[in-house]
Amino acid sequence: MAEPLLCVDAVDKSFGGVQAVRGLTLNIGQGEIIGLIGPNGSGKSTSVNLISGTLRATRGDIRLAGKSVANLSISHRVALGLARTFQTTTLFPEYSLIDQLLVGCHTRFSTSPWAAVARTSQSRMQERQQRAKAEEILDFLGLLDLANEQTAAISSAQQRLMMIGTALASDPKVVLLDEPAAGMVAKERAELSDIILRIRNRGVSVLVIEHHMGLIMGVCQRIAVLNFGQKIADGLPSEIRSDPAVIDAYLGGGH
Ligand code: ADP
Ligand code: MG
Repeated sequence: MAEPLLCVDAVDKSFGGVQAVRGLTLNIGQGEIIGLIGPNGSGKSTSVNLISGTLRATRGDIRLAGKSVANLSISHRVALGLARTFQTTTLFPEYSLIDQLLVGCHTRFSTSPWAAVARTSQSRMQERQQRAKAEEILDFLGLLDLANEQTAAISSAQQRLMMIGTALASDPKVVLLDEPAAGMVAKERAELSDIILRIRNRGVSVLVIEHHMGLIMGVCQRIAVLNFGQKIADGLPSEIRSDPAVIDAYLGGGH
């Protein structure tokens, strides 16, 4: 039987004496939404960094569609379908929303610099395709009306959606969202939940790190819980909610 789309297989990561992630095993099937939760410092961002290639694992393997990506560069992983957002903003504040996404699409369509200079019909066609795709993503995020606004001029919640948009611009198979709801109010979180569900409806898998339990419980099919770098639970939202180890480590810990 084919293994799940993304397999994190017994991965360790240490920073000097700190073992940030220990023996992490996590599977994400095609079109699944998986939550990754845990107290501050439990290894959630490190896990996303290991999967996306920002960090290299000390031990273990990471496979996408059966192929090991553990030793590949970030850009190679993006090209294979692994995209992520960061906890902090990574947008160009002076760019318009459409240009922000055109930068992201650029990694997908490549014309030689000479073709671009000559503005051959092929490069013009690619430009039109990129623009159509960028507009489709803005429409998907409900931001099409703001296409020509400066990124710095939109709300912080809208900027968070744009970070997801730039991840979608690379045509991912899996998107990794690190605290996408940071700073959002309830209504904005509800919109984000809807977007996450619609990303899944496109057949894309989602790994989402979040502190907002309402969002996690509402969108995730399965939730993995980290504590001190180790997975202490992995199950349905209903199972996680009533798991004594989880309640002890996380839900009971003042969160
Ligand atoms: P979380 O995202 O769950 O809050 P992190 O993955 O950011 O946790 O951090 C897990 C642990 O690894 C923490 O103890 C943190 O201090 C440590 N850590 C994370 N990144 C680094 C780094 N680049 N260098 C040293 N220690 C780090
Ligand atoms: Mg983090």
